[in-house]
Amino acid sequence: MKAVVIYERGKYEVRDVPMPRLNDGDVLIKINYAALCYRDLLQLAGYYPRMKYPVILGHEAVGVVIESRDPRFKPGDRVVPLLHEPDGTCEFCMRGLDSYCINALSYGENVDGFFAEYARVSGNALVKVPNEVPDELAVLVPCVIAMVYKGLKRAGLTHGETVVVTGASGGVGIHAVQLAKALGARVIAVTRSPDKAKFIRQFTDDVITEQRFSKVVKDLTNGVGADVVIEAVGTPTLDESLKSLRSGGRVVVIGNVNPDESYPLRLGYLILKDVVVIGNVRSNRSDVAETLRILSRGLVRPIVAATYPLDKFSDALDFMRNNSRIGKVLIKP
Ligand SMILES: [Zn+2]
Ligand SMILES: [Zn+2]
Repeated sequence: MKAVVIYERGKYEVRDVPMPRLNDGDVLIKINYAALCYRDLLQLAGYYPRMKYPVILGHEAVGVVIESRDPRFKPGDRVVPLLHEPDGTCEFCMRGLDSYCINALSYGENVDGFFAEYARVSGNALVKVPNEVPDELAVLVPCVIAMVYKGLKRAGLTHGETVVVTGASGGVGIHAVQLAKALGARVIAVTRSPDKAKFIRQFTDDVITEQRFSKVVKDLTNGVGADVVIEAVGTPTLDESLKSLRSGGRVVVIGNVNPDESYPLRLGYLILKDVVVIGNVRSNRSDVAETLRILSRGLVRPIVAATYPLDKFSDALDFMRNNSRIGKVLIKP
């Protein structure tokens, strides 16, 4: 089968590889779609310390079960894998917090991922997809939409609260805007591009294109500030995000475009404003299942900037680095 293989740090090629072999508890899936993510660029660059070589890149996928050695799944089931493969037995897994699994493997990093025609996945990492959720949406759930859902759940979002989303035209942002809306929030999107703002407007209550967006957020909320900010950019916008919050507000940090950059967090500001900062590692299986259930109501539309075949993978990478796109880049094997 064909696959995108990283054979040494920073180097990859689309090559023929043997079909994956299954152990007990494993499932063979045929990949319907895989999606590109900034995490792929970091894995490709060897940013993570536990990379194995060679490894098949890719951690976002939707597929159909071809063969199963896990009694929970049968051929024909449509499934999405988590970003990681939990062991299902550690203390965290037992508590339903499989995203913290101490023995987890990461797809595209130290276990083969999904830019391939087929993939081996542990049943512990799989969630069935409801019929109402199309492939193009399901593929975005574990790494994108369920991550946002998990963050909003931890932020304790309630109906009618105001949510600000930074980086609103990106793969995370454009779906975060829609999910927050589906969960009953008033949504204010932040993007730098007036062109993109026109597209985003259809999904939100307000769009801000100013660099100093906190002032506009205050104006739009009668001087109070936002209840929650989804920070989908990172250090470049975090200061304005914190300033946008009301007293007692919560910021969910999802994006981190400059992974080596630090941010000087002023504790006095945090204390006096009573702000909650929420991190966000990968989603749990339960987050993915709950998100899929919400999405089956049809309130979130997948925004796909382009779809490429596997052997045009380098074009897809180039396109993803291109700033003018809105939404995600998919790979169809
Ligand atoms: Zn991802
Ligand atoms: Zn575990």
